Amino acid sequence: MSTPALRMSTLFLRTLREDPADAELPSHRLLVRAGYIRRVAPGIYTWLPLGLKVLRNVERIVREEMDAMGAQELSFPALLPKEPFEATGRWTEYGENIFRLKDRKGADYLLGPTHEEMFTLTVKDLYGSYKDLPLSIYQIQTKYRDEARPRAGLLRGREFIMKDSYSFDVDDAGLQASYDAHRAAYIKIFDRLGFEYVIVAAHSGAMGGSASEEFLAVAEYGEDTFVRSTQGDYAANVEAVVVPQAPAVDFSNVPASHAVDTPDTPTIETLVAVLNARHPRSDGREWTAGDTLKNVLVMLVHPGGEREALAIGVPGDRDVDAKRLEAAVHPAEVKAFDEAEFAKNPELVKGYIGPGVLGAKNASGIRYLLDGRIADGSAWVTGADKSGFHVIDLVNGRDFTADGTIQAAAVRDGDPSPDGKGTLVSARGIEMGHIFQLGKKFAEALELKVLDRNGKLVTVTMGSYGVGVSRAVAAVAEGCHDEVGLVWPREIAPADVHLVATGKDEKVFAKAAWLTDALAAQGISVIYDDRVKVSPGVKFKDAELIGVPTIVIVGKGLEAGTIEIKDRATGDRREVPIDQIVDAVVSEVRGAVG
Ligand code: ATP
Ligand code: MG
Repeated sequence: MSTPALRMSTLFLRTLREDPADAELPSHRLLVRAGYIRRVAPGIYTWLPLGLKVLRNVERIVREEMDAMGAQELSFPALLPKEPFEATGRWTEYGENIFRLKDRKGADYLLGPTHEEMFTLTVKDLYGSYKDLPLSIYQIQTKYRDEARPRAGLLRGREFIMKDSYSFDVDDAGLQASYDAHRAAYIKIFDRLGFEYVIVAAHSGAMGGSASEEFLAVAEYGEDTFVRSTQGDYAANVEAVVVPQAPAVDFSNVPASHAVDTPDTPTIETLVAVLNARHPRSDGREWTAGDTLKNVLVMLVHPGGEREALAIGVPGDRDVDAKRLEAAVHPAEVKAFDEAEFAKNPELVKGYIGPGVLGAKNASGIRYLLDGRIADGSAWVTGADKSGFHVIDLVNGRDFTADGTIQAAAVRDGDPSPDGKGTLVSARGIEMGHIFQLGKKFAEALELKVLDRNGKLVTVTMGSYGVGVSRAVAAVAEGCHDEVGLVWPREIAPADVHLVATGKDEKVFAKAAWLTDALAAQGISVIYDDRVKVSPGVKFKDAELIGVPTIVIVGKGLEAGTIEIKDRATGDRREVPIDQIVDAVVSEVRGAVG
């Protein structure tokens, strides 16, 4: 089959020499400059012809692997009625993150941010027996989320394309099998997309549910941080790291707690200095930040809008990690505990807040949760709830009790791996895919039940699996570029060959046109730079910016009977005799030896 070539003289494309003002990341800059996408509004982009080709290639890979694992494609509308989302509580839970609208009769609608409700209800509509299951269905479709921080072009859009699939099973064993099949398909998809990725344990966020993993593209500017252990297989998004509770320690030798004066010590640093100067330890070692218990206050805003203050106790040498905290309190949102809040709670003495007033049963009534490193029986220096004073030898479980624990303290390089093997090393990544065992949450809320073998109604158990299709275009670009432009992996490149005709000689253009047609006849897709009045320098720059894997140059060599093939990624060039050029390019593209 022949593939019509794209001719640069008529291709709907303008490459830009200047970086767009709003682009911080290379992928964003290059996709705009090379004419793949155009911004319409924050987080909303137009796909230009070259961009659309790359997007379609990503979709094709995803579709082929989903079909191969036996999932069936369907397509839901993006415009959805409110009712199913009310039934699952997500009309409220999503808060400001969904685009809401009304029809002419005043009925509420939304633009789907994700489609669990639709999948669940449609299966409920059509199926009723265990014999109908297992089932995996998917769509590749546009989603809408009013993201607080749309970012980096396609990476975090407000309109974006996602592949989402769901599995439906009668029991846990079935769910596990469906999950494993998806995991295997995802490995194939991400191997083909051609970027470096890691599979990490994930926090399942809004969905509840249990087993959950993310596929992260390893990227310096990724928004997600993950950790891997130096030994063993442990890998997790920092949001999902579960630090084990420190074992209880013996406090029989710890003296009674007592307040000491620590003037002007609103920070841990000043506190440690003053402690060492005024109240040296009896065991001869110096006080360190790790001996102090730092209490951090935040405001939670629950989905219904109710506000709740929360206090978190962490060792003073560690911060509360915003992402871990967000994950831990989800679906509540985290806001600052500001001056106005302090004004409403006079028992909270800024800089000197301690467990004396924190906790549901104490003066503030503020829920107080501890980091797992604060062992039962361990002794701490912490705020005395009085300006200029701290308490020494305050023992957890003896002198104060918190309301529970929370996984919110920062995870650091060198921390012990939670599985006991080695220590943690962190890196950054972009979330490309998420698979998890959703379980019965949606099936219960929407009453998706089937008759089992014994004629008894059972609630169906579900798995949920997403791939960021438009995000993948940016993630590949982020991983595959150099100073001068994009360097697409072959499977998703907008064309196989970028053919450049140089000079003004008609013979050159005639040869180039012949080669374009000869390649097209072999099913090779070609971008042919047939522009007559454009200099070779500009053409080469454009070819490198656009990033097609094989560049073919028809020009100077013709006199000697050769055409040049250049590899975009390695820069390797070779002259090929004209009578061998078609075969040479075809084997280059198809990866055959020759
Ligand atoms: P993130 O943490 O990056 O916001 P998410 O947890 O909200 O992602 P899911 O709801 O699991 O994402 O969506 C499935 C996939 O869709 C994600 O793995 C990601 O690749 C992609 N995705 C999510 N939000 C966006 C967005 N705003 N723009 C582009 N792709 C997105
Ligand atoms: Mg999100």
